[in-house]
Amino acid sequence: MEALNRLMEIDPNYILVGLIVTFFVMETAFNKPAHNGDKLKHLVQNILFQLIVIAMGSVLGYMLATTFDWIEQNRFGLFYWIAVPFWFKIIAGVFLLDFADYWFHRLDHKVPLLWRQHRVHHSDTSMDASTALRQFPTELIYFSLGELLISVLFGIDIFSMNIFLFLILPAFFFQHANLNYPEWLDKLLGWLVVTPNYHKVHHEQDQNYTDTNYGTLFIIWDRWFGTFKTKPVQEINYGLKEFEGDKKQSFWYLVRSPFMHIERNLEKKS
Ligand SMILES: [Zn+2]
Ligand SMILES: [Zn+2]
Repeated sequence: MEALNRLMEIDPNYILVGLIVTFFVMETAFNKPAHNGDKLKHLVQNILFQLIVIAMGSVLGYMLATTFDWIEQNRFGLFYWIAVPFWFKIIAGVFLLDFADYWFHRLDHKVPLLWRQHRVHHSDTSMDASTALRQFPTELIYFSLGELLISVLFGIDIFSMNIFLFLILPAFFFQHANLNYPEWLDKLLGWLVVTPNYHKVHHEQDQNYTDTNYGTLFIIWDRWFGTFKTKPVQEINYGLKEFEGDKKQSFWYLVRSPFMHIERNLEKKS
């Protein structure tokens, strides 16, 4: 536990830089030459989104700290009322935070106003690890609201939140990376976690696949609630048809796109 505490004291921005560099090098060394256009330019466009998120960090930190302090001081939520063991509370907390993300992600796809912010993440037609960074800034607040809501209801400990945040950062990079992952990974872990091959299906242009595999860390919610689908990775067309073309892949276009009316183009790629 002590080691885990010390590990979590590391500034997440250092972890982020480490992940960006590691995955950029791995993708350049090992991936198939499938990237359309300039990989470095693509990385910079996606990093610009992350810079806004980092700038919002103190607001989010305040939101999280205030809520978790309140839960602890008032001993509020189901886990306090039924007095569960600490280890159970921590593990269940991580799963419940992911559960909240699953439903908020589903809403992101179903409510037109929310889809406007979320489609920025789906817009990437040259998916690689940096796609993990392409998130419209309001998304972070949106998902945090879901996580805080479930935390208050269940009396989740901030330690669960820290573990959750610590796990999702590398998970995002693994899930989006333009690397060939072996099939045995799905067989070994795919009953529990969102493997890269499963998340890639979520980035398929065809909406029958886009609206599946919503899980962040765990795939069990998709399996239980009927939204789990697979497709061979080699057959996936990434992104959204309405965002194809260099101009629509630029930071400047994407950052304005939630304020534009853009019709969903469901035409299939031939
Ligand atoms: Zn999505
Ligand atoms: Zn994604």
